Amino acid sequence: MNASPASSAAALAPEYVRSIAPYVPGKPIEELAREYGLAEASIIKLASNENPRGPSPKARAAIAEAAAEVTRYPDGNGFALKEALAARFRVRKDQLVLGNGSNDVLELATQALLRPADHAVYAQHAFAVYPLATQARGATGIEVPAKHFAHDLAAMARAITARTRIVFIANPNNPTGTWIPPAEVKAFLAELPREVVVVLDEAYDEYLEPAQRSPSASWIAEHPNLIVSRTFSKAYGLAGLRVGFGIMDAVLADLLNRVRQPFNVNSVAQAAALAALADSDYVAESAALNRGGLSTLMGGLDAMRVGYIPSNGNFILIHVGAAAAVYEKLLRQGIIVRPVANYGLPEHLRVTVGLPEENARFLEALKAALGR
Ligand code: PMP
Repeated sequence: MNASPASSAAALAPEYVRSIAPYVPGKPIEELAREYGLAEASIIKLASNENPRGPSPKARAAIAEAAAEVTRYPDGNGFALKEALAARFRVRKDQLVLGNGSNDVLELATQALLRPADHAVYAQHAFAVYPLATQARGATGIEVPAKHFAHDLAAMARAITARTRIVFIANPNNPTGTWIPPAEVKAFLAELPREVVVVLDEAYDEYLEPAQRSPSASWIAEHPNLIVSRTFSKAYGLAGLRVGFGIMDAVLADLLNRVRQPFNVNSVAQAAALAALADSDYVAESAALNRGGLSTLMGGLDAMRVGYIPSNGNFILIHVGAAAAVYEKLLRQGIIVRPVANYGLPEHLRVTVGLPEENARFLEALKAALGR
């Protein structure tokens, strides 16, 4: 019998593409409203680690202004944004790669560096895009068991072989919220062969206490095999515009820039990111609000005797037992959180820190869902 046209078309793709399990995003508010007949305004979404305050008013003004100019292509080299980032991180513009979200930077690293026979090393329970981006290149992902839910850098170092091209480190990690002190990351780098590139994903760095913030951009001169990845999606509140960046040695930046789309970061995103970067007070206020929210959530969970992993991000991984059922009960109460069974964590839910009233509503809803 002839194969159906759809299945024969599927056979055109390499096996490693056909076997990719697609990324599962947080449920959109509109979808929950449609499926459960709820009013959109009654729903709170604590599922995608966004800044509950939204972007800074300065970024909102820049967005409105840039929206008037969308008939033109963006600056494909992101001159103004790169100039500001170079000054902020004390690097040269040719050490920067802009991305359509930092997700793009992760993809570009795998695109520029991984061949099908190569290995990429990452931790168990690390951000889901590392295995996805590795598999999309036909390379092999080596998942190193976590230690107390955190990256085990010593074990990751032992997993490196002559085939390893990339090591991904998320610091803090999503979804666990675990964090490695910078000195330990630096010691790991010092041990690593120069032919192995470390992609150090610092998407949540802005949420750390000021004394914990990562100085990794200053390590690049000594470690030309380091790519630091950052984003405007989290503390800067610009997730919908998709803008992130990588900081690295100019030789690596040149390689990543060769494989990116010429206009991968749109003009509105560039303008918004430039304005958001300049508004340090807004970012600091957002981080402070997050710390307050985290302590409210941890206090509420302690009172309910519900376990969690202390978090260094703007989210918290909570041990709820039968997570799929609890997720469903929260949805019925108009609260979207994130199941993490796909991270090998079927008994946990990841909850983004919201505004104070959202955190309070979540705790009440969880109490009801767990029957406490
Ligand atoms: N890295 C980590 C650890 C993340 O949690 C996320 C977002 N979920 C990203 C990178 C990608 O975010 P973006 O593409 O929006 O910058």
